[in-house]
Amino acid sequence: MRLAKRVGRLSPSPTMAVSEEANRLRSEGRSVVDFSIGEPDFNTPDNIKGVGHRAIDDNFTRYTSAPGIKDLREAVVEKYRRQYGVDYSVPEVVISCGAKHTLFNLAFALFEEGDEVLLPVPYWVTFPEQFKMVGAVPVEVMTREEDDFVLKASALEAKVTSRTRAMVVNTPNNPTGAVIPADEMDRIVDLALDRDLMIIFDECYEFFVFDGNRHTSLAQYADRAKHVSLLVNTASKTYAMTGWRIGYLVAPREVARSVSNVQSHSANPASVSQKAALESILGNQDSVSQMIAEYERRRRYVVGRLNGMPGLSCANPGGAFYAFPNISSYFGSEVRDSVEFSTWLLRQSGVAVVPGSAFGMEGHVRISFATSMENLVTGMDRMERALDRM
Ligand code: PLP
Repeated sequence: MRLAKRVGRLSPSPTMAVSEEANRLRSEGRSVVDFSIGEPDFNTPDNIKGVGHRAIDDNFTRYTSAPGIKDLREAVVEKYRRQYGVDYSVPEVVISCGAKHTLFNLAFALFEEGDEVLLPVPYWVTFPEQFKMVGAVPVEVMTREEDDFVLKASALEAKVTSRTRAMVVNTPNNPTGAVIPADEMDRIVDLALDRDLMIIFDECYEFFVFDGNRHTSLAQYADRAKHVSLLVNTASKTYAMTGWRIGYLVAPREVARSVSNVQSHSANPASVSQKAALESILGNQDSVSQMIAEYERRRRYVVGRLNGMPGLSCANPGGAFYAFPNISSYFGSEVRDSVEFSTWLLRQSGVAVVPGSAFGMEGHVRISFATSMENLVTGMDRMERALDRM
């Protein structure tokens, strides 16, 4: 069978080995505590589910327009006005089947073969693969543990060439939880304007900020940077709506129109999900603060426990729901890299984590605290015992 070259470019998921091993252990009856999952463990809030039910009962079940229903696009405009005091308009908004879909549409609409996209490391696993799928070249830009993995404009600048078209900025970050402070965002925006680069700004974890950190949105720079700003957001994380598949793009009209055209010939989101997402943005937000408070409690616990384990260090994640501890002091004859460490940990203690190499950075693993406190206690106890034995 001859397959298209573009699928041959895709890297197989480095997390496969660990998830296959987790499944094997489960099939043998072993208990596995899973810290590898990147989605909220909460249920979608009742008010949102109620609107979804009602949409079905009202037969709101037909095709919708390619860029999404007008009232949801208006709600997104309203959200950016409410949160950041910026004026966007409906033609600048496109609703898609999750931020992953939004990002793919963007890559498809923007990049030619050989275009370079600056990609901060560590990155969410999907970014490089999407760029490669459309023939663009992800160019890695390192962040440093000493900086709590905060992306620096100077690191981006060092990688700009005549082929660079865009940069990815993801704050709060998956997998590190790093939150880019306003002064660094100022410098990143200046760089983009100076070198005529688009900014793919992924703010899917915008509400997940802790310890007095503040999320700085690229939307706040609209007065001077709107023409290079591609805001990507989702209902998935904030509202525990991963399965409803609603994400959105806020971008210059021309980009939004192209993305909408792409979408009109591929797929656009479910009618019912769009109604539910409308309620998520405009409805009562109490459940969000309750969920964030719980994530904060878990974060404090997990980071405290990790830093109490000998040989292990964990930068404080300012946001998102991940910890990204450094496990490299355990590398030696028994385990040589993060994949071997993760497989070893799983076999020894039944704790599943994601190897850092999946995100382009060795020497670390990602631990999601989007799971119950009970699981966190059990998992941390087991991990500590396994590391002690090592
Ligand atoms: N962007 C980041 C940084 C993510 O971590 C994720 C999901 O894990 C997404 C985008 C995609 O979210 P969704 O497609 O569910 O909206």
